[in-house]
Amino acid sequence: MSNFLETSLAELQTGLRNRDFSSRELTEFFLNRIDEKDGEIKAFLSLAPKKALKKAEEADKRFASGDENLPPLLGIPLAVKDVLAVEGLPATAGSKILEGFMPPYTSTAVSKLLDAGMIVLGKTNTDEFAMGSSTENSAYFTSRNPWDTSRVPGGSSGGSAASVASQMAPFALGTDTGGSVRQPAAFCGVTGLKPTYGRVSRYGLIAYGSSLDSVGVFGRSAADSAALFSVMAGKDPLDATSLDMPVPEINLNGSTNLKGMKIGVPKEYFVEGIQAAVEEKVREAIKQFESLGAEIIDVQLPHTQYAVPVYYLIAPAEASANLARFDGVRYGLRVENDDVIEMVKESRGAGFGEEVKRRIMLGTYALSSGYYDAYYGQAQKVRTLIQNDFLEVYKTVDMIAAPVAPTTAFKIGMHTDDPLAMYLEDVYTLPANLAGVPGLAFPVGFDQKNLPIGMQLMGRHFEEEKLFHAVHAYQNDTNWHTKSPKV
Ligand code: GLN
Repeated sequence: MSNFLETSLAELQTGLRNRDFSSRELTEFFLNRIDEKDGEIKAFLSLAPKKALKKAEEADKRFASGDENLPPLLGIPLAVKDVLAVEGLPATAGSKILEGFMPPYTSTAVSKLLDAGMIVLGKTNTDEFAMGSSTENSAYFTSRNPWDTSRVPGGSSGGSAASVASQMAPFALGTDTGGSVRQPAAFCGVTGLKPTYGRVSRYGLIAYGSSLDSVGVFGRSAADSAALFSVMAGKDPLDATSLDMPVPEINLNGSTNLKGMKIGVPKEYFVEGIQAAVEEKVREAIKQFESLGAEIIDVQLPHTQYAVPVYYLIAPAEASANLARFDGVRYGLRVENDDVIEMVKESRGAGFGEEVKRRIMLGTYALSSGYYDAYYGQAQKVRTLIQNDFLEVYKTVDMIAAPVAPTTAFKIGMHTDDPLAMYLEDVYTLPANLAGVPGLAFPVGFDQKNLPIGMQLMGRHFEEEKLFHAVHAYQNDTNWHTKSPKV
């Protein structure tokens, strides 16, 4: 087999095990594809071809050894967002302040996948410190949407989504603090999971908003992504907020009928500003869920309108604290100066980009004495109201169906002079992060410009499996997830 573009994970696993092809062939295939396509897409910040091929050869030896206890993802390539530490590979978080930084250890999410046999191809582009919705805030370059390279791939995990959509990697890891897995998945037409907060360890993730950050995964289908999620999830002694809720292998074979499942549709997610084609395709998909046996129920999430202001206080507040460690002493960039205070100031001044500085100022202001109660404290209270909206609705439905973003992928440059317009793109994704619930984004059609449209199912805490079950049933019945751009 020389073409792995349409191959599912199960087919890759069987093919490798039967030695129809080798991990070396598979890995070379994706590395060649990166060689051919990434000049245009610009999904990767750094590549590790030599290491990847060496790992592939090791995997092939294990396949040849006759060992019966091979790890489940042995020999399968993976791209990793550049906010996750992988020992021996650079980790910039899309920032100049971390240029040249080599983490001495590997993040737990990645190390679990490595233990399961996966092979890292390279690190993908991201908005600086994951702050953004388009990759335009990357200090290095803007990644392109494979469906239309004059448009953004979404963000902040835009490089990861673009790498999977353009089939330069079968899988990629991303992080979702306010939508950064789901929104680029929607913009690029791939399937992306944001797990329950705490379900996947954050150890080795360069922190943005610690009470919101979650490590997620992109794949070409729900079934494929589920396999990686079950490996990544679980308690990690190195992350005190990780939960002791391991995920047993998810078996989706029987997921064809959704009888008994109740799906809520919140009216607050279909309001002015939503692109007509997005609403139409999401509603069509909801009908499809109904025809698969699910019961569709109108629900209300009345505090949805506060998600943008609440998030844009809490996330910058946490970011301003998390970013204090970048002082020119411990990591990456230093602007030399004999005066240590000046050195710190100049290093931070030169190392951080505009959006990061904006958020540090927003966050520091919201946390400063005299304003703390009015901004940060108030935001925390409203966050609880948003959370309670979800808990209330989950008394009657199993999950919530909604669009991921109000529009399809926008043109590069469209929002760069207007941060507020960029923040408003996040209106449908932020609530799940504030509530800590899981969300699974997947493609449901195209607009008139042939740009992918995504929707999301948001579940109860710890009920990722149900989301996979529902989307797998949908994907069994439709073929949106099999469409690929002509890159
Ligand atoms: N777009 C949002 C922000 O800029 C979310 C980013 C994310 O999830 N990392 O904060």
